[in-house]
Amino acid sequence: MTIARTADLVQRAQELRTGIAALNVIQLEHAEAIVRAAECSGAPVILQVSENALLYHSGDPVPIAAACLALARRSSMPVALHLDHATSFSLCRSAIEAGFSSYMIDASSADYETNVQLTREAAQWGREQGAWTEAELGEVGGKGAHAPGARTDPAEAGRFVEETKVDGLAIAIGSSHAMATQSANLDLRLLESIRGEVNVPLVLHGTSGVPDDSVRDAISLGITKVNVSTQLNKAMSSAIRLELARDPDLIDPRRYLGPARDAIEGQARHLLGLINQVHVRETPDMKERKTQ
Ligand SMILES: [Zn+2]
Repeated sequence: MTIARTADLVQRAQELRTGIAALNVIQLEHAEAIVRAAECSGAPVILQVSENALLYHSGDPVPIAAACLALARRSSMPVALHLDHATSFSLCRSAIEAGFSSYMIDASSADYETNVQLTREAAQWGREQGAWTEAELGEVGGKGAHAPGARTDPAEAGRFVEETKVDGLAIAIGSSHAMATQSANLDLRLLESIRGEVNVPLVLHGTSGVPDDSVRDAISLGITKVNVSTQLNKAMSSAIRLELARDPDLIDPRRYLGPARDAIEGQARHLLGLINQVHVRETPDMKERKTQ
């Protein structure tokens, strides 16, 4: 299997009317576990590395991209590589040079006009490179300066996509980053209103905090790319805690990172089943368009 491109996986998910999981990688163990889960589930997947994770690895996208791309190349399932939450355009450029096929330029904490300008420039450059560009409007809560409780305005979202020509849009509909429990309350009516105004794939961030049924509903109402990070790290850290508590003299990291990798894989398999196997309900409006 060759390395997949995010644009193709997102498009395929739209055609099949399912979601595509974008699962965050911090360590090599994450990437190994997610690719293994994709193969076991028979599902394509996007390996997603955030700007913060790259900063943790000295800000250089090359080593982690090389590892992810090697795993993707050997995988029996399509695997793409995406840069998540980049606040710096130069990082987007170096990520594409390192082999990523897409990036999110996140100017959502800036004012509307600045967000439009930065996103438009990034999307234009991305088109020239054949890369897929995601942006955010409305600030998904819980991450740095992002305001919890913010919501994307549907009319503004329509205008934003028109003005920026961005390929995918992350929207704020009630989820929040880094939630340790699945207690978020998604505003599905707002999602329907945004879907009515926006003609590019929609992205759900902060999915770790969203109950499974609501993830299904969100996909059925028009979310395509589904980002998950915290759930994987929760599984990983719980497994490490358990192993270290079981044997306080444990020294070899493989003895706790191995079970941690298995725990990430288990969670990733659950997510791939959830995200890939739901189908978009046909709204009366969609049926009308088809019969016209
Ligand atoms: Zn996010």
